[in-house]
Amino acid sequence: MESAIKAPRGTRDVLGDESWKWTHVLNVCRGVAGDFGFSEVLLPIFEHTELFCRGIGDTTDVVEKEMYTFIDKGDRSMTLRPELTASMVRSYLEHDMRRAPQPVKLWSAGPMFRYERPQKGRYRQFWQIDFEILGVSSPMADLETIDTSMEIYRRLGLTNLQVLINSVGCPKCRPAYRDALKRFFESGPGLEALCETCRGRFDRNPLRILDCKKPECREITESAPAILDSLCCECAAHFEDVTRGLSRIGADARLDKRLVRGLDYYTKTAYEILAGELGSQNAVCGGGRYDNLAEAIGGPSVPGVGFASGIERIVITLEGQGAFLGDKPRVDVYVVTASSSLALEASALAHELRSSGIPSDTDYAGRGMKAQMKQAAASGAGFVCIIGEDEAASGTVSVKNMSSGEQRSIPRDEAASKLALWREERNR
Ligand SMILES: [Zn+2]
Ligand SMILES: [Zn+2]
Repeated sequence: MESAIKAPRGTRDVLGDESWKWTHVLNVCRGVAGDFGFSEVLLPIFEHTELFCRGIGDTTDVVEKEMYTFIDKGDRSMTLRPELTASMVRSYLEHDMRRAPQPVKLWSAGPMFRYERPQKGRYRQFWQIDFEILGVSSPMADLETIDTSMEIYRRLGLTNLQVLINSVGCPKCRPAYRDALKRFFESGPGLEALCETCRGRFDRNPLRILDCKKPECREITESAPAILDSLCCECAAHFEDVTRGLSRIGADARLDKRLVRGLDYYTKTAYEILAGELGSQNAVCGGGRYDNLAEAIGGPSVPGVGFASGIERIVITLEGQGAFLGDKPRVDVYVVTASSSLALEASALAHELRSSGIPSDTDYAGRGMKAQMKQAAASGAGFVCIIGEDEAASGTVSVKNMSSGEQRSIPRDEAASKLALWREERNR
């Protein structure tokens, strides 16, 4: 049936046959966060628009075209968050976390919003996890960030994990690279060969030409100079430490000179993690260092490094690999009655089982027994408790094991303890 009002374009309902996979991913993230000493912060869904203009950058596609911005009733410009890093840093500054022992390790998860053209696997409301280490500039923090993301994917069972890594330098050494890059485009094959978007980027943000996906641009940038050759001593040493650390923890890491970020507050490490079938691996995560972000949003200098990863993408990649996502939650016991006059008995038994920690369900629609049995089978319950007139009169209940078909009668007041035992035996 067609409903009058549908979910807005680019959004979707994640229903019960799928949402449990998201819960599984979030549970793994929560476990890794605990093991690595990250604390969870719950942040607002909307922030002052200015936070993202300054914290993501006025010239980015996100800020220029993709933000959900509105004027609230108090005449303030608000924006639904398109990512979490700026909010994390805002929170760190607002709560003066600089006073705490450094680093401060934070993580969060939730929906983000970007007004993009909806396509397969890309939505205007999408979920991300986000981990940040704030307050230290040591390359060991970069390494730990990468290790944290790798550990999440390892525990989820993703295979063929590969780290793509680069350095984006710092405000000291990046201008020289930017000039070298511009000279390269102006001399060689010429600007005219670049796509229109990239021609527009040439003056404002030439580094971003490197990550253009268009074949004509990729062909040209193949021979572009690498930023690694322009790094200052400090950035070069930092990069060296991170890559040494990666081989120490056994990560499969590869230099990717196209991995750049055009904005000034991104510094040093930039990385992505690929997962999935060899040859068609997907980026499941992007991260890096942003030592000048806190200042960009009006705070003191606070170094930081972190990553974000889309839950949608993780689930698709897990499914593509046939990885084990855990079991879809289901009830263990379904209570069936011979007549609707026994409905109260059924609901009392279900109540008792649930109080004993046994997930249970029963019929509320006054269905006939055959229909109830069908319902029970559809629920996936391992056991069905049947209460007929005889059982009710004699204080018993018949229990059917749905996998063996075996049925036996037990005293009603032993139902919870017996079922708990049988469940345990079955799960062993
Ligand atoms: Zn530098
Ligand atoms: Zn291009």
